[in-house]
Amino acid sequence: MTMDRATMLPILDTRGRHLEDLRISVTDRCNFRCVYCMPKAVFNSQFHFLPRAELLTFDEIARLTRLFVSLGVKKIRFTGGEPLVRRDLEVLIRQISEIPGVEDLALTTNGSLLTKEKAVALKSAGLRRVTVSLDALDDALFRRMNDVNFPLAKVLTAIDFASQAQLNPVKVNMVVKRGLNEDAIIPMAAYFRNTGIILRYIEFMDVGTTNGWRLEDVVPGAEIIRRLDQRWPLEPVPPTRPGDVATRYRYRDGKGEIGIITAVTHPFCHNCTRARLSPEGLLYTCLFGQSASDLRSLLRSQASDRDIVSYITGIWNNRTDHYSEIRRSLTPGLPKIEMSHIGG
Ligand code: SF4
Repeated sequence: MTMDRATMLPILDTRGRHLEDLRISVTDRCNFRCVYCMPKAVFNSQFHFLPRAELLTFDEIARLTRLFVSLGVKKIRFTGGEPLVRRDLEVLIRQISEIPGVEDLALTTNGSLLTKEKAVALKSAGLRRVTVSLDALDDALFRRMNDVNFPLAKVLTAIDFASQAQLNPVKVNMVVKRGLNEDAIIPMAAYFRNTGIILRYIEFMDVGTTNGWRLEDVVPGAEIIRRLDQRWPLEPVPPTRPGDVATRYRYRDGKGEIGIITAVTHPFCHNCTRARLSPEGLLYTCLFGQSASDLRSLLRSQASDRDIVSYITGIWNNRTDHYSEIRRSLTPGLPKIEMSHIGG
């Protein structure tokens, strides 16, 4: 089906936000147990991860992505769990990279499986850039935070492999939790300054219901900026596009750029153009989603492209999400999807 893109776009939600980003979670599994995302106490050997038969196949993901692109999506990000635990991810990346209209193709990974060969294979399959999660530069603290005793050195090497494979700009995401790794804020900046790698600090978020989130454990973005600015003066950088999640700064001495993601203290829901596809084909319209819409049953009941497109359009047109703006007025402990299931 060739839907006439021009006549269909943009589809807007109830807040006038269009659909531009699709985050595709290809697995709910991960080989880390980061304490702020997938605490071991919950995600243990008794936990029921999705059986393979329930996962969308690569062809199903590619078909859905093509339909999302026909609705205005330009930017695709592969997430998880840990996306590289899904075998042969390059095959899917090549399928998606060949869809006309896809302007950006990124991957978020913990780096543990990002070998030199894998980085090269992902690049040649069409991946444009990589974001690696790294929360500390002290090996003992890093091992404690990933909670599987995974060594820091291997992730630092993976970041180098990503740069060498030209998966640029390589970004590094650091979740900052008070009382845990805030003392790593400056050492992380010192390590990545003047490398071309963009370090982004993320405020600790109340994603899902299992990470024991408390407001007092959040280090506000403003405090992180203040600490950095006292050490290396910073200046703001205008956003590349309105829907960007990070607020950008550059060092006045020209030694690079950093970003701050402030979903708690300075929500950015007003510009949120992101949809999320779960590994089993559920469409979430917010990271803090409490409900979702089933696309897999449509796919597997031979629904036409036109039917699926109008179904997605209906969901987006009725979208009202702005969780981060109303977080404090909501009842604590609301049932929310886990970030490890739909990606950050
Ligand atoms: S809280 Fe939901 S609506 Fe707001 S920016 Fe995050 S994903 Fe978008």
